[in-house]
Amino acid sequence: MIPGEFEYHAPATVDDAIQLLAQHPDDGKIIAGGHSLLPMMKLRFAEPAHLINIFEIPELKGITEEGSMLRIGAMTTESELIRSALINQKCPLIVEAAKMIADPQVRNRGTIGGDIAHGDPGNDHPAVMLALDADIVVKGPQGERTIAAKDFFLGTYVTALEPNEIITAIRVPASTPGTGYGFNKLKRKTGDFATAGATVVLHLKGNTCDEIRIALTNVGPTAFRAEAPEALLQGREIDDALIEQAAIKVMESCAPAEDLRGDAEYKCHMAAEMARRSIRDALARAKGN
Ligand SMILES: Cc1cc2nc3c(=O)[nH]c(=O)nc-3n(C[C@H](O)[C@H](O)[C@H](O)COP(=O)(O)OP(=O)(O)OC[C@H]3O[C@@H](n4cnc5c(N)ncnc54)[C@H](O)[C@@H]3O)c2cc1C
Repeated sequence: MIPGEFEYHAPATVDDAIQLLAQHPDDGKIIAGGHSLLPMMKLRFAEPAHLINIFEIPELKGITEEGSMLRIGAMTTESELIRSALINQKCPLIVEAAKMIADPQVRNRGTIGGDIAHGDPGNDHPAVMLALDADIVVKGPQGERTIAAKDFFLGTYVTALEPNEIITAIRVPASTPGTGYGFNKLKRKTGDFATAGATVVLHLKGNTCDEIRIALTNVGPTAFRAEAPEALLQGREIDDALIEQAAIKVMESCAPAEDLRGDAEYKCHMAAEMARRSIRDALARAKGN
């Protein structure tokens, strides 16, 4: 399929890109790596008259440490995340997730900002950001604002991003002693989106779990936190019996759409299994820290 005609813009700065969006409020569209947008344009699900390429804007690149947080430029690709010494050392969960996204071709071009902005329930970064309690930094004509990941994902392809705003960076906490993570994703084959995925970040004080976030992928209209199993595990010494109870609550919190990856019942069971594994992985890592 061939996309419709469009005018191509390559602004040099974020402010120039925002200005272009303001000039084309109804038919302007940001393009980053293009791995979600271009397929939609080829199918004519998206027909922007003005394509605004932000991939090469230098201020959207780079990974830096800011106190206890890491700041990841929105145009950082999956491959750059995987290769980053800082991310490997301070937030290995992101590396583990990025390695499971698509294939090398997609990872060389697809960006963390695009993955989050797209609002696709099948994308992997949204649940990772929810589990990490990340901040999404966005900029528009009124300046910069920060949106907590928990307030960002509103529905299928719907986020808290205004049409005239651009994600400039993502801020995630660096891992601390006693913190552990788990990322498990069931997919049919390499390069596929998740049939179901579960990301867990927890913190142990002694043997007690004093903080836990469980976020699920592709088992609802958007990535979401599974609050009932979180509440069950919070403040407890987690053992196999509790994990089993939590897995049942994960299953109850899912509302997946049926598709070629499976029916709703199967996906709910798979989400529970991914959560079981991620809780166990997170516990082991928290104890090892
Ligand atoms: C074969 C294949 C398999 C894939 N498998 C997976 C997978 O397993 N897991 C996964 O997570 N993803 C997967 N993807 C999606 C891939 O990771 C995309 O790259 C990602 O969803 C979008 O990132 P992008 O940089 O390509 O964004 P684009 O496609 O350029 O943009 C996507 C959308 O976000 C908007 N946008 C982009 N950047 C910004 C920004 N900074 N601010 C505001 N709006 C912005 C665009 O306007 C557009 O609406 C797959 C893609 C393909 C083609």
